[in-house]
Amino acid sequence: MPDRLPVALSASPYEVLVGEGLLARAGGLIAPVLPARRVAIVSDASVAALHLPALRAGLERAGFEIRASLSVPPGEASKSFSPFGTLMEALLAAGIDRSTAIVALGGGVVGDLAGFAAAAALRGLPFVQVPTTLLAQVDSSVGGKTGINLKAGKNLAGAFHQPRIVLADTGVLATLPARELRAGYAEVAKHGLLQGPLWDWCEAEGAKAVAGDAAALRHAVLESCRLKAAVVAADEREESPEGGRALLNLGHTFGHAIEAECGYDGSLLHGEGVAIGLGLAARLSARLGLCDAALPGRVEAHIAAVGLPARLADLPRGFTVEALMGRMRKDKKVRDGALRFVLLRAPGEALTRGDVPPALVEDLLREAG
Ligand code: NAD
Ligand code: ZN
Repeated sequence: MPDRLPVALSASPYEVLVGEGLLARAGGLIAPVLPARRVAIVSDASVAALHLPALRAGLERAGFEIRASLSVPPGEASKSFSPFGTLMEALLAAGIDRSTAIVALGGGVVGDLAGFAAAAALRGLPFVQVPTTLLAQVDSSVGGKTGINLKAGKNLAGAFHQPRIVLADTGVLATLPARELRAGYAEVAKHGLLQGPLWDWCEAEGAKAVAGDAAALRHAVLESCRLKAAVVAADEREESPEGGRALLNLGHTFGHAIEAECGYDGSLLHGEGVAIGLGLAARLSARLGLCDAALPGRVEAHIAAVGLPARLADLPRGFTVEALMGRMRKDKKVRDGALRFVLLRAPGEALTRGDVPPALVEDLLREAG
């Protein structure tokens, strides 16, 4: 039986189901929360080749009509305006109506793209997330953020559109490339640092998850979603600048800067930037006297132990401090020119600070480079 985690939003509560073999039982699991047994599936070509047959069978077994099954090319480029338009036209051409649910089968790219299409088509269709990457299972499928990238930047067109249900089938992670699995694990480590006991589990057992151990992966997904669900329920639309969803950006101010410098060309995965960002956030916390001086070493040692880049110097290319600082000043979460960071007092005790002196950050980057 899957574990069922409630996401307790006042207007649109839903559940995240975590377990193995959920694709084959998808129809029976999602029917209770949908207005009709009618869906359109959106996937990417790689995921569709591997997992679409199981999902189709699982839906048809429960009497679902599959109005359309559409796939986009794998990769971030599909999360943009032109594929979005093509997808919307194809959905409408397939004859979807307001009781047809959009089912996203794929990683964060498919979830964000299909979710935005579900938010926009006919002014809002029921939406189901079936995340197939570790990143999507522990992070992007929960919380209702959907959208696409614009030339002006990542995720700049989008909508909050909560799913009716999330089916996190940890069995599908068996086909995920090892590098993608590791990158998704960076978000598990982030959730661990935000939550506390989950960080202790990461240090003790996280390497098993990265090695593909089924029980460890299920635990990682379940506990990550438990944390994310609680944070999202308390701050659905990221309205609190200091607490709430903003804390989920731990490691991301640095991570986004590193990612942007690498140019989103696939040479650095999001989670790899976040992994380095977690170490830098811990170092900054120690430098500000907020946490134990040993914490940064612990964070970097764990990140390295699971095979992720732990320091800027672990990446094949170099970065200038000026370029990274420039990127961080442009981060959409920076308010009034002051650098805002999520910092740690200890695992399980995160806070945001909007007054971090830029010179301190520059020093830190110079050392870390
Ligand atoms: P992705 O969707 O590009 O998937 C990574 C690769 O793995 C793709 O090539 C895909 O085809 C392949 N793949 C997926 N599942 C597979 C499986 N089970 N077996 C084999 N291959 C599989 O990348 P991602 O890391 O899942 O998501 C990244 C996106 O998520 C970014 O666009 C990011 O902005 C977004 N994101 C959104 C949120 C949110 O809250 N909405 C949060 C974090 C990240
Ligand atoms: Zn992230």
